[in-house]
Amino acid sequence: MNFNNMGIIPPILKAIQALGYQNPTPIQQQAIPAIATGKDLIACAQTGTGKTAAFAVPILQSLHEDNRKGLGPQVLILVPTRELAIQISQNIAGLSKFLQVKHCTIFGGVSQVNQVKELKRGVDILIATPGRLIDLIGQGFVKLGHIRYLVLDEADNMLDMGFIHDLKKIYKFLPAKKQTLLFSATMPKAIRKLAMDFMHQPNEIAV
Ligand code: AMP
Repeated sequence: MNFNNMGIIPPILKAIQALGYQNPTPIQQQAIPAIATGKDLIACAQTGTGKTAAFAVPILQSLHEDNRKGLGPQVLILVPTRELAIQISQNIAGLSKFLQVKHCTIFGGVSQVNQVKELKRGVDILIATPGRLIDLIGQGFVKLGHIRYLVLDEADNMLDMGFIHDLKKIYKFLPAKKQTLLFSATMPKAIRKLAMDFMHQPNEIAV
């Protein structure tokens, strides 16, 4: 399989080329078509396997085809750490270089001023750590009523870091109808339970 026969639209193919990716990684080969079916997905994959592009490519493609601009974020990517938030944000910047899609990254430990400014400019894809997201929802700067995709990245680390209550709180703000994608390096019982609570008949892949 190569990127050219996966149904990926030209502006994203061009970005993939610009990033220097030659061939899809195993998680990309499996996840890109699985996500395009519209079903929820549990993917067992570590950081470093190319998992960001695995979820970002089909999501960007869907936004490009049907971008409901001005309503607020349509994609929420939840991550455990600011480092991962920044890394994902950079990867999405590269992949969306030739698209009209705005992303914004919010995390704790720094002033919220610039993050709020960015949110006010309008955002399609929101990358966030749970604590700062809850803060900004509480202050009315973020509305999650139009989320169509929820990505839980490094879900095992999020549980290990004690984010389960935050995740449950955030989940209540999301519309019922959405596609949920869970990425985790390990699949302990607590992740299965999270998937049972948060997901609807998910497909499952592992690399
Ligand atoms: P990730 O697992 O998403 O953190 O990705 C790990 C690294 O692999 C990142 O620096 C990506 O830019 C890079 N990468 C992702 N997909 C590919 C690919 N198909 N070919 C080469 N490098 C890639």
